[in-house]
Amino acid sequence: MIQVGITGGIGSGKSIVCEIFRSLGVPSYDADSRAKFLMENDEVLISFIKNAFGLKSYLDTGKINRAFLAKSVFGSAENAKKINSIVHPVVAVDFSTWVLEQNFPYVIKEAALLIESGSYQQLDKLVVVTAPVDLRIKRVKSRDPFRDEAEIAAIIDKQLSDQQREGKADFILKNDESELLITQVIKLDEYFRA
Ligand code: ATP
Repeated sequence: MIQVGITGGIGSGKSIVCEIFRSLGVPSYDADSRAKFLMENDEVLISFIKNAFGLKSYLDTGKINRAFLAKSVFGSAENAKKINSIVHPVVAVDFSTWVLEQNFPYVIKEAALLIESGSYQQLDKLVVVTAPVDLRIKRVKSRDPFRDEAEIAAIIDKQLSDQQREGKADFILKNDESELLITQVIKLDEYFRA
């Protein structure tokens, strides 16, 4: 079964692309949502995180203490590396197990940091979704009204550029309103099925 990665910067349209693939019947794994789920439901992962960052990493309700973790992770590149090194292998195993349960010519794995984490190398093909920065800012602002333009621009600045992502891409989906996204996804779907 061909494993296809989908990535792109904030607001590029990864999720909407995956929604279209899903609506065409393609099994799709959302690595970022799944990681969040596993961090609150996988006992082994929970104990690794508590060991690495302390009991304060979780609230009494069992939910992850986002405020606490955000402070220690975003404040330190070393901690960001550490949490990734704990979470990534667990998600990788979870993804491999999920793949075995699928019965389709190909599957999709969506993640914001597929390239940065190196996990795109374990996939057969990489699709990169791109869009001009001003359009991405506009779309994220209307999706997440609690974020202001400066915050979104700062996130974009910290991420890889579209040009850097394109360098790793087997296929590029341009979400810039020049060609309908749905038409581009249908073409790719036909290609992967064949
Ligand atoms: P993130 O990394 O923040 O999760 P993303 O790459 O998954 O972002 P989406 O959530 O798919 O991006 O898209 C950002 C917002 O822009 C969403 O509200 C989405 O509905 C909207 N959007 C994306 N593409 C288009 C488009 N072609 N036309 C209209 N709206 C769009």
